[in-house]
Amino acid sequence: MKPARDGPAILQVAVAAPLPELFDYLPLTNGDTSPKPQPGMRVLVPFGRGRRVGMIVGIAADSDLPPERLKGMLAILDQEPLLQPADLEFILWSARYYRAAPGEALFTALPTRLRRPEPAQTRNLPGWRLTAAGQTTASATLNRAPRQRATIDYLHECPAGVSQRQLNDALGACGPSLRALAERGLIEPCQVAPPALVPQEADEPPAPAEMAPTPELNPQQAEAVAAVRASQGFAGFLLDGITGSGKTEVYLRLIGDALDLGCQILILVPEIGLTPQLEQRLRARIPAPMVVLHSGLSEREREERWFQGARGRARVLLGTRSAIFAPLPELALIIVDEEHDLSLKQQDGFRYSARDLAVRRAQLCDCPVILGSATPSLESLHNCERGRYQRLVLSHRAGQAQAPRVQVADIRGQYLDTGMGPLLLQRIEERINQGEQVLLFLNRRGFSPVLTCHDCGWISECIRCDARLTIHRNRSELRCHHCGLIRPLPARCPYCEGPDLRPLGQGTERVEDSLRQRFPGIPLARIDRDSTSRKGELERLLAGALNGEFRILLGTQMLAKGHHLPGITLVGILDLDHGLYGADFRATERMAQLLVQVAGRAGRAEKPGTVILQTRHPHHPMLRALLERGYGAFARAALAERRAAGMPPFSYQVLIRADSPREEAAMAFLQQAATQARELQTPDIELWGPAPAAMEQRAGRHRAQLLLQAPERAPLHRLLERLLPRLRALPRPRELRFSLDVDPQET
Ligand code: ADP
Ligand code: ZN
Ligand code: ZN
Repeated sequence: MKPARDGPAILQVAVAAPLPELFDYLPLTNGDTSPKPQPGMRVLVPFGRGRRVGMIVGIAADSDLPPERLKGMLAILDQEPLLQPADLEFILWSARYYRAAPGEALFTALPTRLRRPEPAQTRNLPGWRLTAAGQTTASATLNRAPRQRATIDYLHECPAGVSQRQLNDALGACGPSLRALAERGLIEPCQVAPPALVPQEADEPPAPAEMAPTPELNPQQAEAVAAVRASQGFAGFLLDGITGSGKTEVYLRLIGDALDLGCQILILVPEIGLTPQLEQRLRARIPAPMVVLHSGLSEREREERWFQGARGRARVLLGTRSAIFAPLPELALIIVDEEHDLSLKQQDGFRYSARDLAVRRAQLCDCPVILGSATPSLESLHNCERGRYQRLVLSHRAGQAQAPRVQVADIRGQYLDTGMGPLLLQRIEERINQGEQVLLFLNRRGFSPVLTCHDCGWISECIRCDARLTIHRNRSELRCHHCGLIRPLPARCPYCEGPDLRPLGQGTERVEDSLRQRFPGIPLARIDRDSTSRKGELERLLAGALNGEFRILLGTQMLAKGHHLPGITLVGILDLDHGLYGADFRATERMAQLLVQVAGRAGRAEKPGTVILQTRHPHHPMLRALLERGYGAFARAALAERRAAGMPPFSYQVLIRADSPREEAAMAFLQQAATQARELQTPDIELWGPAPAAMEQRAGRHRAQLLLQAPERAPLHRLLERLLPRLRALPRPRELRFSLDVDPQET
C-alpha cells in the first residue's frame, strides 16, 4: 500500500520494548469503523516477525521511511486516549531525561493489564450524547414525540453523555426514540465512563460529622501555609520540619485549598505498607474521594484506581514512586513526603527519581510542589540555597511534645554479647519498670550476619555474591540478603568438619533472644521484613505497639519510618557505625537521616523522650555536628565537604553500569565505553573508571561501572546524546548487560 502525499497521516508509535526510537506506521484503512487514532491511544502493530503493543505518541504528515517500507498498524486498542497530551508529554520527557526507551517508560506508567494488547474500553460503556444541533434544539419542538423529548431533556443534563444502560434504567426501553433522534442528527453515539468504577467504600470521604477535627495551626505552620498560598503557578517548596512538627497538618491545609478550587492532588510517599497510619489520617481529614496506589495491590485494583484518577473521580491520589506517572487531568498540587528517602528512586529498569520528577511535573502543570522531610536531602537543601525552592521551616514540635535528647554510649573496647552495652540495658530496664515503651533499632535482620568456624576460620560466604550469608536461626538457614540464596544451617564446618561453629555479630533475631532472656515476660515485638512477611502482620504489630500491648519494639528501618508511636520514651540505636565510614559518599548523609528519623520516634506525646546511640566513634566530626547542633548543622557541614570535593549536588553524575556472568567482561566493555566517551569528552566533563562495583559480584554477575561527572547538567546530557548510540553499537557478548543511571543515588 502506498500513502499518497495527501494520504493517511503517519502514526509515530512507541513500542513496548526497550528500544530508543519511535516507529512509523500507517493508520488502519477501515477508518470509519474504528476510532480516529490519537496520541495516547494504544495500538497493536506488526513488529519484526511478531506483533507488539505500542502507544501513539504523535501524528506526522511524513515519514523518513520510503512508503513501501511503511507497515500498517493492526488494531487500535483504545476507544479514547489513555493519556492526555500533558501526561504523555511528561512521561516522554522523563524517558528522554533518564535515557530510557519511550515505550518502556510509557508502559511502565500504565496499569499492568494495559501493557498487554487487552482492550481498555471494557471500562467504557456505549452511550449517547447531544450533537451540536441537539444542544441548541429546545425539547419543546419535540412535543409530539414525548419519549424523544424526555431523552433530549435527560441528555441536556449530562453533557458528557449517558450510557445506553443508564438511559434504559431512567427512561425505560428507548431504543426506537434514540434511533429516531440519531437520524435527525440531534444525538450521536459515544463512549461513556461508568458512573462509578466499582464503588469502593474506603475511597469515599468520611461524612462531615465523622471528619477528624482540624487543629489550629501554630505560627510556623501558618507561615508555611501562607507562603504556598501566596505562590502563583510553579513554585518549589521544601518543608523542612522536625519529626512531629506538624508537616502533615500543613499538607492537609493545602490539600483543602486545592480541593476547594476543584483541583486534583498527588501525594507521593516512599512506602505505604510501612505507614498505614498516614493513609488513615489523611482519609479521616480529606473531604473528597481519595485513592491509594502502591505495589501491594492486585492488578485489577491498581487499574481501577488509576482510572479513577485519570477520569477525575478520585480527587486525591496517594501513591508510591510510580504514582508520579498517574494521569490526573486536574492536577494542581504535588506533595512529596519524606523527600530524602531512597525508595523514591527506582533502582532498576527505567531508573528515575520520583522526587525530581515531581518537580518537573509541577513545572509542566504550572503548580506548586512541596517536598517535605525532617531530614531533607542535601540536593534539596542546596536547591533552597540557590533560590530554586523556598524553604519553610518548622522547628518546634506541634502540640505538647518535646524534642528528644540524644545521649552517646561509647562502646569502644566493650564486648557486647547481646548487642547492647550496660548503659542501654540499664535504661531499658528503668523504662520498662516505669511501664513505658522502648524502641530498639538495629538495621540488620536475621540472627547474625555471619557464621564462622572456630577451628579453621571458615566464614559463611555467598557463592554468587561478594557477601556473607546471614544466619536465620528461626528457619535454620543461611541466607544471602543480596541474591536470595538459601542454604541449610550446617551442623559442622563445611571446610574442616569441625563442630565449633559460632555466630558472629548481632541481627534482630539474636537481640530478640537476648531481650527475652533478660526481660522475661515483657511483651516484645520484633518488626523486620522476616517477622512481617505475612499479610496483615505489620498492621497487627504496629497496632499492638500503639495500644501499648508491646513494651519493647525491636526492629530495622521498617520501624524508623513515619510511625507515630506516642508511648515510646526511649529509643536505643544499637549500631549505625557502618554509616560513618561507608564506601558511598552519601553514607554519612544516610546515616544522619536514619539516626534522626529513628530518634524522632521518641517522646512524640507529652512524655519527653531519650535516645541512646551506641557507637565506637563518639568523636567522629560529622556525628558530633549532628548530635550537638542538629541535622541542619550537619547538613551545612556535609554540603561544605561536598562543595570542596565537587561532589553532588555541586556536580551532576551519570553512571554507566555493566554486568556479566563472565569475569572481566563488564570491565572490558566499559573500557571501550570509556574510550568512546573520551573522544566526545569536553573539558568540563570528568570520567572516573571503569572500576569494579562496590560489591563486584552479585547474584553470579560481575559488575563494573563508569562514572561521568560535570558541574552542569547540559554538557553531560549532550555527551550522553552522542555517546549512547555508540555504546549500543559496540560489539558485546550477548550475556553482557549495560544500563545508564542518570543522577544515581548509589555509586
Ligand atoms: P510530622 O508530619 O511533621 O511528623 P505531624 O503532622 O504528624 O508531624 O504532627 C505530629 C502530631 O502533632 C500529630 O499528632 C498532629 O495531630 C499534631 N499536630 C500537628 N499540628 C498541630 C497543631 N497545630 N496543634 C496541635 N496539634 C498538632
Ligand atoms: Zn572449619
Ligand atoms: Zn548472594
